[in-house]
Amino acid sequence: MSTLWGLPDFDAHEEVHFVTDEKSGLKAIIALHSTHLGPAAGGCRFWHYANGEEALTDALRLSRGMSYKNAMAGLPLGGGKSVILADEARTKTPDLLHAFGKAVDQLSGRYVTAEDVGMNVADMIEVARSTKYVAGLPAAGKDVGGDPGPHTSLGVFLGIKAAVKHKLGKDSVAGLHIALQGAGSVATGVALHACAEGAKLSIADVDPAKAQKLAAATGAKAVSAYEILTLEADVLSPCALGAILDEQTIPALKVPVVAGGANNQLAKPGDGPRLHDRGILYAPDYVINAGGIINVCTEYLGDGDASLVRQRIEGIPVRLEQIWAESAASGRDPGSVADAMAQKLIGRA
Ligand code: NAD
Repeated sequence: MSTLWGLPDFDAHEEVHFVTDEKSGLKAIIALHSTHLGPAAGGCRFWHYANGEEALTDALRLSRGMSYKNAMAGLPLGGGKSVILADEARTKTPDLLHAFGKAVDQLSGRYVTAEDVGMNVADMIEVARSTKYVAGLPAAGKDVGGDPGPHTSLGVFLGIKAAVKHKLGKDSVAGLHIALQGAGSVATGVALHACAEGAKLSIADVDPAKAQKLAAATGAKAVSAYEILTLEADVLSPCALGAILDEQTIPALKVPVVAGGANNQLAKPGDGPRLHDRGILYAPDYVINAGGIINVCTEYLGDGDASLVRQRIEGIPVRLEQIWAESAASGRDPGSVADAMAQKLIGRA
């Protein structure tokens, strides 16, 4: 039997808590990867996993990703993540959310939670009844807080602009063709920003009605979910699910730039170098999509207003430039360069 320390995704995580509350049916894992820069911050995922191993792998990987994301965004926060193992019916009760809140509370602020897949603002309000170590609450009366999506979209759009400047020498996306994968929260904001600046858009979603609706709102063309990855365009912006860049899709890409908000876009470690070898400029996902966590963390830390959030989001293109400059100097792909920078920032170089 393998121990936690022997698992492939274990990366010197400082703490991993297994939580059970029989009364409410809560089963959860809270993983604190690093508190080097501050409390371990990262959302809570509510998901029906095939088994406990899958849930643990998710918690280990996601919490490490949060350490990297928060460090690269310049936030005084470490990285953590929690997963609630939902039953098949995805039963979510106030009691279960309170039990989760209590488990977070027992960590005395070493972990700060927020929304992730399967959790929404209303759930965080319930969790907040059992702990103060929570963010992503409604912005009522304050100018920071609430839905992180629009902030993620802004950061992704600024990152796309930085990428086309770097790769194509263009100061604006006006007249450029952007292939957008996804028509959800993040993609919608990216499409609206890009459309306002005069970009030509192609949009795909596995739900064609969503793609058509967003296309109609932005003067874009709706295309099939298959077609989007092989379109000839200036930018591919993956804003749907992860693991879409792999040994099959990368050779078929017809774009000079990949810059989008989806988490974990590279399927395997070799896929960053694979993109780089094709001369395609890649914006590392956890760097370009940090706008949402920037808003959430500024809300939690209470250390600034909307203008500080904007200032922090404007740091995203600056960080991307540093990564691409280092990549050009060293010949290494931007994903590997970003990982090395993040490891150094969290004291693990
Ligand atoms: P969302 O659920 O609102 O939208 C995702 C969309 O992608 C859905 O419309 C879905 O139908 C579509 N989709 C799924 N698979 C697809 C495929 N193969 N091809 C085309 N479309 C597909 O989610 P979101 O909040 O917009 O998040 C999008 C991505 O950005 C996710 O990877 C998420 O982890 C990441 N992200 C989101 C935030 C945020 O603030 N919301 C922050 C950081 C990262």
